[in-house]
Amino acid sequence: MRQAHMYRTTTRTAAQPANFKAASALDTKVARTGNGLLDRLEKADLRQLLARSERVKLQRGDTVARPGEDIPFVDFPVGAAVSHFQILKDGKTVEIAMTGREGALGIPAALRQGVSKEFSEVLVGGEAYRVDASFLRGLAERSPGLRNVFFGYFNECLERVSRRVICNNYHSVEERLCLWLMLVRDRCGIDSLPFTQEQVSFFLGVHRPSVTLAMQELRKKGVVDYSRGTVHIKNAPDLIERSCSCYASLSVNEANAAPLAV
Ligand SMILES: [Zn+2]
Repeated sequence: MRQAHMYRTTTRTAAQPANFKAASALDTKVARTGNGLLDRLEKADLRQLLARSERVKLQRGDTVARPGEDIPFVDFPVGAAVSHFQILKDGKTVEIAMTGREGALGIPAALRQGVSKEFSEVLVGGEAYRVDASFLRGLAERSPGLRNVFFGYFNECLERVSRRVICNNYHSVEERLCLWLMLVRDRCGIDSLPFTQEQVSFFLGVHRPSVTLAMQELRKKGVVDYSRGTVHIKNAPDLIERSCSCYASLSVNEANAAPLAV
């Protein structure tokens, strides 16, 4: 059993714009493949990549990366969501990022040979396209377009990690709970999320009673419901309104908002 991380939470200091109405990625299209990053690729690159891919199932709770381990392949999820952690010296962990159908796992390995710097665990089970990392490196060397897409995505990931660090330190439990539920929903495309309150409190790095209180309030307002280890999102727009301003930075809408013709 991991310990909750040591980040404290405080009330939100930056007000969310009153007219902020970000849509959910559920309302957008992942046009060709079901994965937003693959959908950004030029047709010829995508064809080569898919020809060398296999469809795999990522099982909930599986560890897909550990710090210091080689990254042998890159996964492009189409239904799974994966949580990325850093492990602190005292054994505590903190979630720094989440990946789903908007992106890829192990993208640094597609740009240069390397090892994982984080611990990654499957939050919600689902399928992914899996491609050998060395093949992708070769493809990236030959295709500037593919290389640019992957570098662009890598930079987006770094920006999202920075935002999560700020969020973990400065935003309230209720705001972060709403945000976190929306991040999972956007990344795996489902409204019923398989988490107990204990698990949610772990991912948020806060004590369970504060999550229970926030959940009760959300249920009273008709935003979510929960039963038997499942959180049901009933009103996503309201959940976004109740999230901290970080949703605008961590939403995956932009990644999925430019569907290409088949
Ligand atoms: Zn935040």
